[in-house]
Amino acid sequence: MIGLTVTRSKILARVSVLQNILKRYRKRNREPKVTNSQRALEYFDIAYAPVYGTRWPSVRLALLSKPKYVAVLNNFASYDETIKRFQTLGAWDIGKKYSAIRERIRMRQEQKQTVSNDREGGTDEATATGKFVRPSLVELDDDELAARARLEPKGRYPEEYRQRAAAQSPDMEEVDVTSRVIEPSEAGSSLLVDYVPATRLKGLENWMEEADVFTNASQDDQEIGVTVVKQEEPVDFPEMLKIFAFEKGNISDFPQPRSDPQLRVLDHYAMDGASLLPVLALDVNPGDRVLDMCAAPGGKSLLVLQTLLPGLLVSNDVSESRVKRIRNILKQYVPRGMSTIENMTVVTQKNGCIFREAEEYDKVLVDVPCLTDRHSLMEDDNSLFKTSRTKERLKLPELQSQLLVSALQAVRPGGTVVYSTCTLSPLQNDGVIHLALSRIWQETTIECSIV
Ligand code: SAM
Repeated sequence: MIGLTVTRSKILARVSVLQNILKRYRKRNREPKVTNSQRALEYFDIAYAPVYGTRWPSVRLALLSKPKYVAVLNNFASYDETIKRFQTLGAWDIGKKYSAIRERIRMRQEQKQTVSNDREGGTDEATATGKFVRPSLVELDDDELAARARLEPKGRYPEEYRQRAAAQSPDMEEVDVTSRVIEPSEAGSSLLVDYVPATRLKGLENWMEEADVFTNASQDDQEIGVTVVKQEEPVDFPEMLKIFAFEKGNISDFPQPRSDPQLRVLDHYAMDGASLLPVLALDVNPGDRVLDMCAAPGGKSLLVLQTLLPGLLVSNDVSESRVKRIRNILKQYVPRGMSTIENMTVVTQKNGCIFREAEEYDKVLVDVPCLTDRHSLMEDDNSLFKTSRTKERLKLPELQSQLLVSALQAVRPGGTVVYSTCTLSPLQNDGVIHLALSRIWQETTIECSIV
């Protein structure tokens, strides 16, 4: 009898422990801990779904998928072996593909033009070519940076690099450039240029500030004195850039970069394929003075350098630790003692919002800090969706527009500013551009066109 009582009480004690565990488990399930990436996804679902409509599910899926990397060959290293290795892996040369697609577009435009000329009996030459005519370079002043830029740019790069980069690699196979080309008509109308009206964001308490900024930003182009120039021809793909990618649907990784034993630099740099676009949009010309205003860790600066085109490249960032990363990248990819490159590459640590060099640069890249959508979904640490960083997140549009205003003041008349983000937020893209342009319109005499 005694033994049975003990056993019963033991059983009851265990049942009680189990009940407690169950209670705790249920409680935890009732109030699940929301992670920063879940908070980000929730935000994107509310803010982006109305903008991207039926495309949102596939855009969302892409955001949650692995990014697609491309490999940028280092023009300052020996890369023939690397090219062979990439080709064996099935990667193809983006520059070749780009040029072929561009040629197709050009031919189609010519055909269209011939048809319309036949119908209308002629048109003027400027409209026919659709070319954006750039004013010639303004005189440089005698500032130290400008003085360096005055040197003849082509002579600044060791000729062997130019020649080798220009030469066709012996084993380079011809790629089928006509497949997998998406016609603009197939892509449909781009929703990327529509941004959320302020009212859509209202009612969501902690996003009210974004809505406020946005109200300011939603003026028409004419109200802020901006003309829109349609650039009919795509920009040129810089001849010297050698970039490899895997075909559509193949998200293989490139092998780790190898160190060149003689030059002690790495043979290639892997970067998210989308990062190429802002640099291509810069359309760097020989001798251009280029400012990369928010440059760290330095991927896009490196890409600009690899075009072998600029006469001066200033890579700036506000953060000391991140400026170190720019220097590190340059060290890893430019051989030590190559004074021609070292002299034309300047790294600075300044607050881009108060850049003092007015009308100094031919090209300015403003690759602003932003929501970094994909990073926010993948990384829980260091996320802008941490509750402790809410204020910082809400202030981003203000910071971005200030950086853009500053860039528009740093560029010379006739020069180009490229504003880029890695977010789909309509507010942080078109919204910020409108906000910055309206400030420029109200506070300066600068005239801007959106190309
Ligand atoms: N362009 C870089 C690349 O391709 O490697 C990435 C730039 S990252 C998106 C944004 C950068 O802006 C960060 O490195 C950040 O430190 C910098 N930044 C933030 N505020 C800034 C400011 N006021 N002035 C200059 N840089 C700033």
